[in-house]
Formats: sequence, C-alpha cells, structure tokens
Amino acid sequence: MPQAAGIKSPFLSELSFKITEIEIVRILLVEDEEGIGKFICQGLREAGHRVDWAKDGEKGFDYALDAEYDVIVLDLMLPKMDGLQLLQELRQRAVKTPILVLTARDAVEDRVKGLNTGADDYLTKPFDFSELLARINALLRRPPLQTTNILQVADLEMDTTRRIVRRGGQILELSQREFMLLEYLMRNAGHVLTRTQIGERVWGFDFYNESNAVDVYIGYLRRKVDKNAAIPLIKTIRGVGFCLSGDENDD
Ligand code: CA
Repeated sequence: MPQAAGIKSPFLSELSFKITEIEIVRILLVEDEEGIGKFICQGLREAGHRVDWAKDGEKGFDYALDAEYDVIVLDLMLPKMDGLQLLQELRQRAVKTPILVLTARDAVEDRVKGLNTGADDYLTKPFDFSELLARINALLRRPPLQTTNILQVADLEMDTTRRIVRRGGQILELSQREFMLLEYLMRNAGHVLTRTQIGERVWGFDFYNESNAVDVYIGYLRRKVDKNAAIPLIKTIRGVGFCLSGDENDD
C-alpha cells in the first residue's frame, strides 16, 4: 500500500529520532583501577550507553561539572580526591545526578558516610556486571534527587515533591491554590509579605491589587492550618500584609 507508506514515513522518522534521543544514556565512571575500569566501560558501551572514564577524583569532579550525566558510577578509593569528598563537593554544588558508589567488601562505615553525603546506591566489589547494569537502570527510572523538598515551620511540614502538608502530624487537604500560597509563605517564613507580592506570585501577573483574593485565601488557609492549634502560624501584619511564623512573640 503505497499511500500508507507515504503517510507513515515522516511519522516514523520523527519517532525513531525520539527513541534514539531517549536511549542515549551518558554515564560518568570515576575509577582508578585499569582492569575494573576497562571491564565496566566495555560492558556499558556494549549495553548501548555512552561512557566517559575519569581515572582520578579531580578529573571526575571536572567531568561531572562540565557535562550532563544521567548516572555517575563512583569508586571511593581514588587518587587526588577521594570518592566521598567528590560526592560531597558535587552535592554542595547542587549536582543532582544519581550516583552509584562502588565500595570494597564490608566497608560498612563507607556506606553510612556515603549515604549521608548523598549517594543513591551501592555496589560492593567484586560484582557481576549484570548487577551493575540492573542498578544503573533502576537509578535511571528514579525521579531526580530533590535536595530541598521538605519545608518546616514549627510543627507545620510541607513535602513539595509529594505535595503533602502536615500540621502536628495530621495531613491537611489543600487545594492547588492554597498549596501554592502556603508554599510561598513557608519559603519566606518570618518575613512579612505584602498582598501585592503574594498576589503576583500565587495568582500571576494579571493579578489585580484591588482583588480581595489574598485575604479570602488566607482565610481558607487559616481554617485548615491554624484550626485547633495552640499557636497560630499565619499572622496579619496590619497595613502591610501577612507573615508565617512559629514565633509566639511576632504579633
Ligand atoms: Ca580505587
């Protein structure tokens, strides 16, 4: 059927382009041991991944900052900069790439340190290549690491990734707009925000100053957040705006 082929071809070329784009996975390997490094590089390339190999910690650090990787495979015992330090430096610079740490057998202390420093997974040497590939694939399916997804003011807690709000451990049901308003207040806890600031942030640029939407929604939030609470968190600053604070002496 020639007409079918004619219709399909642009679609197919577009589709295959997209598939190619998705399938190219860039992996940074930081490993100083030649034998292990070659073994991992070869296996990952055979699996269709693109691999850059840094043979010491400083190079690994430079590579990680210069390019966007989907996964970093990081040995801990490295010349010039050790793996834990490298991990820490990357996380401090908000590099959120999933990191799989390779560690010596029974190095439990390394595991604990690494977990606290921001590693996403571990593999103990020696390992089977299929195990390494499975771990990498699991990391690729995971949503990117969020470093600041929990906001907390007194006993009010917001998980911005999972969109859950709790006060004193009790889950609060908020609308989308209420959630945005509360997130803005929590991110600026202790600071007074004017109605205009709140309006522009939560309602957008078409927000009209005369609108009483801010007061109405502050009212909705109060009924949910401060209802039955010994210390109200949402404070009205007369003539100025609003402030979220857990400090009793703010009024
Ligand atoms: Ca090593």
